[in-house]
Amino acid sequence: MQWEDREESQNVEDRRRMSPKAGLALGGGGLLVVFIALLFGLDPRQVANLIGGAGGGGQDQGQIDPSIQFTPQQERMASFSKVIFGDTERIWSDLFAREGKEYKKPILVLFTNRVNSACGNATSSVGPFYCPGDHKVYLDLTFFRDLRERFRAPGDFAQAYVIAHEVGHHVQALLGTSDRVQAARQRGSEREANALSVRLELQADCFAGVWAFHADKARQILEQGDVEEALNAASAIGDDRLQKRSQGHVTPDSFTHGSSAQRVEWFQRGLKSGRMDQCDTFAAGRRS
Ligand SMILES: [Zn+2]
Repeated sequence: MQWEDREESQNVEDRRRMSPKAGLALGGGGLLVVFIALLFGLDPRQVANLIGGAGGGGQDQGQIDPSIQFTPQQERMASFSKVIFGDTERIWSDLFAREGKEYKKPILVLFTNRVNSACGNATSSVGPFYCPGDHKVYLDLTFFRDLRERFRAPGDFAQAYVIAHEVGHHVQALLGTSDRVQAARQRGSEREANALSVRLELQADCFAGVWAFHADKARQILEQGDVEEALNAASAIGDDRLQKRSQGHVTPDSFTHGSSAQRVEWFQRGLKSGRMDQCDTFAAGRRS
């Protein structure tokens, strides 16, 4: 796909060189804490507790590890992700504006191995995920290697689809869909709850297709074979092929996503129509 030389999103937290701190050790902003403490003559430990109490938990970003260096290929992957993320911002801002709504932009967090989010701590093994609590998309770029090698879904448009799917969850959060589903999940049985999860996931696939439709219309990003790449990826990460790979304490993006055929179907629906109203997976679920 065509993506080079395009504008990167400015809403990115690059935490790839940060290792989240454990416990209450002097971690994120440790130097700053000591500096403030000297300035005000406070015990640095007290200041650390204050800062930890106010902005701690999911906001804690840990310490920068200067020994972590990136290859040109890794930097290229980071740039690609920022460009795609930026493109979703432009498309969704426009689509929301057409309906008289405001698109509040999410944040893309790039991380390595493990990360703290408002949804809890996570390791890369959960795969990319969206946290509605802080409106951030979390992505360890090594997932793209997994996508290529483990799931046999190579290609840059396959990667773009994954990012666009996570952004689709942000759209659902803004529209209030995620909250409604969450409430319904708590009322219903486990089976009903899982079925609702599938509807939510398939809608995010459809929204990814809607993004691709408009991105291509505006900037002709799609090249020969791109759509097949995304469809192959959608199929490869369907529940019936994807082994459960979740660990950690976040609500990961790895449960009940729908079958490969369903994922392909809904992505295509969005891609062919470019319309959000074609993505009512919940109505479709009631009919079938
Ligand atoms: Zn998802």
